[in-house]
Amino acid sequence: MTDEDTSVVAETEELRLSALSCERCELSETRTNVVFGEGNPDTPLVIIGEGPGEHEDATGRPFVGRAGAFLDQALRENGLTRKHVYITNIIKCRACITESGRTRNRPPRISEVNACLPWLEKQLALIQPLVILCLGAPAANAIIHRDFKMTQERGNWFETRYARHAIAALHPAYILRQDGEMYEQARGSLVADIGSARRKVIESKNEPKQTLF
Ligand code: URA
Repeated sequence: MTDEDTSVVAETEELRLSALSCERCELSETRTNVVFGEGNPDTPLVIIGEGPGEHEDATGRPFVGRAGAFLDQALRENGLTRKHVYITNIIKCRACITESGRTRNRPPRISEVNACLPWLEKQLALIQPLVILCLGAPAANAIIHRDFKMTQERGNWFETRYARHAIAALHPAYILRQDGEMYEQARGSLVADIGSARRKVIESKNEPKQTLF
């Protein structure tokens, strides 16, 4: 590791520690843990999901539930593990509602996304990824463009202010809700989009494959 790499890791950790006491929105009142992000901050590839669910809230780690296991498998099929990438979310605290004593996830509110965005922006400014892979529409809306339409634009490349190359893929949790042929197609598209992100990193660095991942 160079001094620059060490400093990205140290500064990301410092940022994580300050995020732990964040009270920028009302989700701070109901969270168990801030789920800041994890993986390798010295990576060219950042993966951004929507927000923590129950398991993530309980552990403080991103993508550790069923959707996380599914994502890990799709990464493995592309020769990648969490050590090769950095994984985070648009919002760092769980957004949920409780009805009849049962708590379930809900999409983040725009106010929550806006309140949380400075954390993500600081993370990305430190990591400076070459490629961002957005999982699901909320991430694509925040990173790629506000009107991003998953059905029309998934798998396409965009230039963004956060990384030279960004692409959006179907969210693992959405794929897990599909059946039969739809499930197979959606799963295949996620594996292909991760593969596409991996190739884009290699192309952008213009270096031999083995030295990157
Ligand atoms: N879904 C997400 O978008 N992020 C997580 O961390 C877990 C599930």
